[in-house]
Amino acid sequence: MPPSVETAVREAMRGDPRALLVAGWNRAPTYLMAARIALDAGRPCLAVFPSVDAASAFARAAAGAGFAPVLVHGDLPPAARRSAWESLRSARGMLVIGTRAAVFAPVADPVLAIVDDEDNSGHKEERAPRFVTRVVAEARTRETGVLIIGATTPPVATWAGVEAGRLRLVALPSPRPRIGVVDLRRRPDPGMPVSRPVLDAVRRVARSGGRALVLADRKGYAGGLHCAECGAVERCPQCSVALSYDRSGRRLSCRVCGFAMPAPNVCSRCGAARLHLLGAGTERLAAFFRRLAPRVWRLDADVAANVRDVTAVLAPFREQGGVLVATTLVVPWLEWLRPNLVAVVSADRWLHRPEFRAAERILSLLRTLSMASRARVLVETSDPNHPALLAAAAASLRPFYAEETALRRALDYPPFRSLVAVVVSARSAAVADAVIARLAADAAPPTEVLGPSPVPGAAAGRVERRLVLKVADRSAARSLLWPLVTGAAAPSQVKVVVDVDPIEL
Ligand SMILES: [Zn+2]
Ligand SMILES: [Zn+2]
Repeated sequence: MPPSVETAVREAMRGDPRALLVAGWNRAPTYLMAARIALDAGRPCLAVFPSVDAASAFARAAAGAGFAPVLVHGDLPPAARRSAWESLRSARGMLVIGTRAAVFAPVADPVLAIVDDEDNSGHKEERAPRFVTRVVAEARTRETGVLIIGATTPPVATWAGVEAGRLRLVALPSPRPRIGVVDLRRRPDPGMPVSRPVLDAVRRVARSGGRALVLADRKGYAGGLHCAECGAVERCPQCSVALSYDRSGRRLSCRVCGFAMPAPNVCSRCGAARLHLLGAGTERLAAFFRRLAPRVWRLDADVAANVRDVTAVLAPFREQGGVLVATTLVVPWLEWLRPNLVAVVSADRWLHRPEFRAAERILSLLRTLSMASRARVLVETSDPNHPALLAAAAASLRPFYAEETALRRALDYPPFRSLVAVVVSARSAAVADAVIARLAADAAPPTEVLGPSPVPGAAAGRVERRLVLKVADRSAARSLLWPLVTGAAAPSQVKVVVDVDPIEL
């Protein structure tokens, strides 16, 4: 343990800054040391994780290190949860471990709050009262407590806090990711669902009795659209995010602003008639590998929905070897599975995902894949010089953060603006559009309104429209939206749902 970690925790308890960013692999020992320092000083400690599995694993580690932690999460029976909650009121110097609701644990302030993997969707409560663990933890620790944010690969917006001096960086020594890039532009047969180098590598591992993990970005068969000549992806002329491909209608549309057009036959950048569907889903890949290897398994949301425990699907792969075709559902199991090879099939749809955080998400995924599996990660792409791919194998992430931060500043994205998604639901399109028109008219610069775009899958008899607001100042957004949310400024049949910092755009 580098002495700087302990020093950083002690100095945070004295004040400025009160927040630490623990960046790197294997953060549990650092959390336990911080908890020990806090408890010795008579302060309670909250450690909040994005999943029950992650919270339980940390609770076991804490118990093994001599702590007597209280575990609080949604999978506990109500009586057990109530007694855990009540034991907190009376106790001092307590280590509380749990999932997102644990951030409200009724322990006495000042508190040391640890939020691990803050960017994980498990930290966002999507039902009312909506909250994000990190925001609650920040509020609880702002005056007197200490906040520790932990991440293998911190999001760009979090890194901005380090640059601004609000967060002190504690960089943990971590294994250097081993990433190999397969350039899809040189692939001779675009009709095949995987490239020749990936095919050969997977077959080699499977034949020698090893475990090859093939990661797909989606279940099923479908894909997106890109140019095999120049690697370009069709982008929205208004927002510059990648357009999504709708298979049935052969159309391209923007999920941010609603822009739509028929799918072109030639690339808009180089004019080549070599536009191909991007990506192959788990079903297509599993069928492909079954012709080449005797033992092929599949894990995706469809498979997981039909089993009580995904380890029942994964255990035979772990014991017998072969090929596992999976979506990112497999990520929490990587350390246990220990594959000998990870192949990311067509990473282009991750790289060009229609959202401004696509680059940091794929960077984070690749680093986690490599560090958790300890395996070499082969990445197929038509864009081998993409900054996220270059950064994934680099010794330092600083150049990536600098470049990405400059881009976001130029495009007015977080952390320089906040994004607020607004869904307006009404019985008719006319009513929904009228509410939106008034909202757009009331929004004064620098607030920007993107959209509206239709929301697919609205309840029968209702129409839903989605807007994205870019706001410089959250209080301006609040005064703009509050009359709508409370119903004071909208017809009673209209429902408005507001999502600040939406996880998916
Ligand atoms: Zn092209
Ligand atoms: Zn757009």
